[in-house]
Amino acid sequence: MAVQAQALAEGQTPRLLAEANESVMFIVNRPPSVFVRGKGSYLWDADGRRYLDFIQGWAVNCLGHCPPSLVRAITRQAKLLINASPALHNEPMIELAHGLTEHSALDRVFFANSGAEANEGALKLARKYGALKRGGAFEVITTWNSFHGRTLAMMSATGKKHWESLFEPKVPGFTKVPFNDLAALRKAVTSRTCAIMLEPVQGEGGVFVADKKYLRGVRELCDETGVLLILDEIQTGMGRTGSLFAYEQYGIEPDIMTLGKGLGGGFPVAALLAKEAVSVFEPGDQGGTFCGQPLAMVAGKAVLDEMLRRNIPRRAKTRGNYLKRRLKELGGEFGFTDIRGLGLLMAVDLPVDKGADVVNAALQQGLLLNAPRPNTLRFMPALTVSNAEIDEAIETLRSVLRKVL
Ligand code: PLP
Repeated sequence: MAVQAQALAEGQTPRLLAEANESVMFIVNRPPSVFVRGKGSYLWDADGRRYLDFIQGWAVNCLGHCPPSLVRAITRQAKLLINASPALHNEPMIELAHGLTEHSALDRVFFANSGAEANEGALKLARKYGALKRGGAFEVITTWNSFHGRTLAMMSATGKKHWESLFEPKVPGFTKVPFNDLAALRKAVTSRTCAIMLEPVQGEGGVFVADKKYLRGVRELCDETGVLLILDEIQTGMGRTGSLFAYEQYGIEPDIMTLGKGLGGGFPVAALLAKEAVSVFEPGDQGGTFCGQPLAMVAGKAVLDEMLRRNIPRRAKTRGNYLKRRLKELGGEFGFTDIRGLGLLMAVDLPVDKGADVVNAALQQGLLLNAPRPNTLRFMPALTVSNAEIDEAIETLRSVLRKVL
């Protein structure tokens, strides 16, 4: 396999990196490799090096790299119809919308191309609802340490302290409160509030799980006040936390939910879902050139079908428990100060701020990890990861931690 990967771009890495230096906009420090192929839990670079991937495109490749069902669906559809028009029906869009409403508590779906775009749609829908049904209410309450995307409105919604001063002026109409603090939320609701927007697990913020009592309390607060509950399940949805959608584990239902990441199993697609009573868009309010295009739709349908057929959420739960157990062993050796998460969205806190050093050393040893905070490591492998692959990741991490800590 490594030989095949090498054949794709043998000796090309220095030239490609030089060209990247000249022409690719610098938005992140990328390691000096060019990635050419993926299969399941593994990724290969152009020099034939193999990496065990516990990032998976930032929790995107829920079925691993290039799952055959997804490849088949995209290939078949590419020969039939790639794009009709967002203003025309296409069969895959109807099928995916139907599949999502059948297996969730929501009734209507609008498809978008990225998580941030789906969240923008959620914000617009909530504001329209506020205008029509709550006397012009337009404010949305979000939480500190949240992440909702990188459009200007979603950067305004996101609760990262160091984003507060970026790209001013921000989009107005957001109030932020601490996560898992029901009293603060209750105090923040006013007659101007149209919605509360939360992640069931704050993923980019460092994997902080909403307490059961908290999320149930938020639902009650929304019911009492008529404020909408928007759950951003872009990272937690599609089986990642051990159920198809994380809200199922809390015994509540959102009024609006957004999906992205795992929905296309690597193909860019996102969705905004809403209860019937909240679906107040009128023609002209919402749209987008690529929204609901058939290739993305068959990708989503292939992922959903395989997820249901193989009960991938249950697998994510059992594999997540196994990963947690193995991390606890490591934690005992290296003094982790916290191990937390749900399903296969997991994090550990190191005793020192050496997350970036660990990530770099792990990359050198062929393991892809992420450090969302200076002392935090995040694990988001494919939901199809095996126990043997988890063991391999733990052994590599043990060797890395011996060196770095
Ligand atoms: N919401 C959550 C919870 C996310 O984790 C992310 C991405 O990490 C987004 C929104 C933004 O999604 P995208 O990067 O597809 O715009």
